[in-house]
Amino acid sequence: MSENPYSPRAFFTGLGDRLPRVLLSPQKYVQGPGVLNHLGEHLSLLAVEKVAVLGSKRCLENEAARAINSIKSVGIDVAIAQFGGECSLYEIENQVETLSPEKPDFLVALGGGKTVDAGRCIAERLSVPIVIAPTLASNDAPCSALSVVYTTEGVQESVEFFARNPTLVIVDTEVVANADERYLVAGIGDAMATWYEAKVCRANTAAVTPAGARPTLAAYAMSMICAETLYEFGEEAIAAVAESRNNDSLEKVVEANTLLSGIGFESGGLAMAHPLALAYTRINRVHNNYLHGEIVAISTMAQLALEESTDMHKAARFFARVGLPVHLGQLSMSPDNLDELDILAEVTMTNPNAHHMPMKLSHSLIKQSILDAHHVGVKISDEVGDQAYRRLHH
Ligand SMILES: [Zn+2]
Repeated sequence: MSENPYSPRAFFTGLGDRLPRVLLSPQKYVQGPGVLNHLGEHLSLLAVEKVAVLGSKRCLENEAARAINSIKSVGIDVAIAQFGGECSLYEIENQVETLSPEKPDFLVALGGGKTVDAGRCIAERLSVPIVIAPTLASNDAPCSALSVVYTTEGVQESVEFFARNPTLVIVDTEVVANADERYLVAGIGDAMATWYEAKVCRANTAAVTPAGARPTLAAYAMSMICAETLYEFGEEAIAAVAESRNNDSLEKVVEANTLLSGIGFESGGLAMAHPLALAYTRINRVHNNYLHGEIVAISTMAQLALEESTDMHKAARFFARVGLPVHLGQLSMSPDNLDELDILAEVTMTNPNAHHMPMKLSHSLIKQSILDAHHVGVKISDEVGDQAYRRLHH
């Protein structure tokens, strides 16, 4: 962590006794097929002379190569930084040391969630703005001003907050269409939680968003259309990616997963789904084999079970149809392993966002909600079938 870690919560609380409503968003969001081929033109609008491009080895040889060509073609210098794979302090500090002498005036982070998160931490330490080019639509991270930092072993260690959101988020849907469909499905799981969590925060006058302030109606509206879009176009978008095709449904769902969900969670607020999902990463078997959005989906079911929401079955049925986990067995867990359920409840209880829920949360209520969601999920999986899940998890 830097010496003076920025805390949006402390910042806004420190300004007065009544929290303002705050909306955070990237300065510009660009999405479409082939947009990475024009990254250089977008950067030239920002008066950039030299950029550092952070990407994994695989990414630098593929989609990043097109972006780099485009940057060079407009006369901007490029320094390449190969990402080691984990968003850890060790990796972040190494990259900062290598890139400092290059004196880039922008950082471009190209890749999946961990590259994006690491990129934000590196840009902050280099004191340069960041451009984010996600190559997957698998999570809600690209637009935000926070990064989850892991230990070198991949266990969540801390969350770093930044005073600036990305200057530009640029999503090439041709790249997303050619990625493994499991990533898009996971992104749908992550994005579906946005609306259910924002809804809880809207009803709670004490709720504080990750932006450190009161939720905005704008973020709430975005969360709502996010869920509507996923329910309506999710399956068509997945079918398109399964055939490496792009279509209008995919465009809509990528926007939902990236922009709507990103602004929705950061300025709309979180409830129990995300704290519980983060708790699941304490179980190595789950952390190593399942994507963030997959874990968020099953955690959303637990939140809806706790709320006794009428949307519980609707969400579970949709998750089963698209191949997201709907019961503990599909996360390599068992309802009989009470020790693991205790860990989930314990870790969730320590997360202030979880306490946005309308009832007084307790260890036993959390455990019960996980089990209730599990039993509903088993029934729904029998009813809907688990073909979609098995297709993605072979
Ligand atoms: Zn998420």
